Amino acid sequence: MPDRKLFYEDQALARHATAVVAAGRDERGLHVRLDETIFYPEGGGQPADLGRIGAASVLDVQSGPEGVLHYVDRELAVGPVETVLDAGRRFDHCQQHTAQHLLTAVLLDHHGLATTSFHLGAATTSIEVKGPAPSRDALRAFEREVNAYLREDRRVTTRWVEPGALATLPVRSRGLPEGHTGPVRLVEIEGLDLNTCGGTHVSRLGEIQVMELIGAEPARGGTRITFLAGGRVLAGIEKSREIEEALRARIGTAPGEFASILDGWNDERRRLERRVRELEAEAAAHAAQRLAAQEGALLTAVRPGDGPEALRALANEILVLRPEATVVLVGGTVDPPGACFLVQAGPRGSADVSAIGGRVRELLGAKGGGKGPLFQGKGGTIPSAEALAGAVGS
Ligand SMILES: [Zn+2]
Repeated sequence: MPDRKLFYEDQALARHATAVVAAGRDERGLHVRLDETIFYPEGGGQPADLGRIGAASVLDVQSGPEGVLHYVDRELAVGPVETVLDAGRRFDHCQQHTAQHLLTAVLLDHHGLATTSFHLGAATTSIEVKGPAPSRDALRAFEREVNAYLREDRRVTTRWVEPGALATLPVRSRGLPEGHTGPVRLVEIEGLDLNTCGGTHVSRLGEIQVMELIGAEPARGGTRITFLAGGRVLAGIEKSREIEEALRARIGTAPGEFASILDGWNDERRRLERRVRELEAEAAAHAAQRLAAQEGALLTAVRPGDGPEALRALANEILVLRPEATVVLVGGTVDPPGACFLVQAGPRGSADVSAIGGRVRELLGAKGGGKGPLFQGKGGTIPSAEALAGAVGS
């Protein structure tokens, strides 16, 4: 019979010779059915297994009335084929999924928090429970509890029973899918939990290795608890170690001193920023006097390093000294290239500000505009002082 779900019979099977019995295409893409499959189809909150069927990559697996459809990246002919499971992905799902059974059981039995949904994501796994979000301390206590069960290394077993037998068993279940007929699969964590479930699981709690409850937040009237299990916790530790090493190389102290060192650096930075502002103000006053002493009514200057605010402050200082003049100032950065400019007429200035502004904008290759006595813009490259003077005809 096609579609035989071998992953229920031998979960360790990672490679299997079988046959493509049908090939087709629907809105999701190309798909094949297999005589026997080692690929778990998405369901019950657990994503599909991936891997290879012959030369094709498996992109998704879905189960429906038409059988188990394996979505593949290329056409496959009906006939014998070798199938290979992405066993690392499967084991990761087994760890996360069995961890969910354990967490759900502990939260309900010991804390009265009933699980209402389960989502196994690519980065984290979450359940939603009834009730308000637990405190940080409570979450740490839940984490210690589930890890204590992992140390006990209890057995995780599966078996099939007739639906009629469910009433006589202490089964925790959200109910059977609508239209379900035939035997029901039970998953049991020895002495802790008995549940209806069609997913894949580890065979002992010790295989989960470790669990980390990473957060709890209000969600849809209840609480979403997010966690990592097994390899995902270890990968997180590795990531933290890389970050710590990178920080240690830059800060040059043991991690325990990072916070106090950074606080010290911040204090020093604030002190230096204050000092730079004072010195900039002094320098601007000197620059204003020097520029105001230029001949003629059009005063130009190129000031790499000055931003738009510094240019405006400088222009205002100059125009206090020379109210009949018009100033043309260009600032900005050389690397990366990014100029800014300003043309401003004093209260008694008579220059055509918009005409001069247009010429500066063109010289720089900048954007900008203005009205009345002020024209300003940004972009393009900083010109030489001679080129600027030449362009505005000063
Ligand atoms: Zn399960």
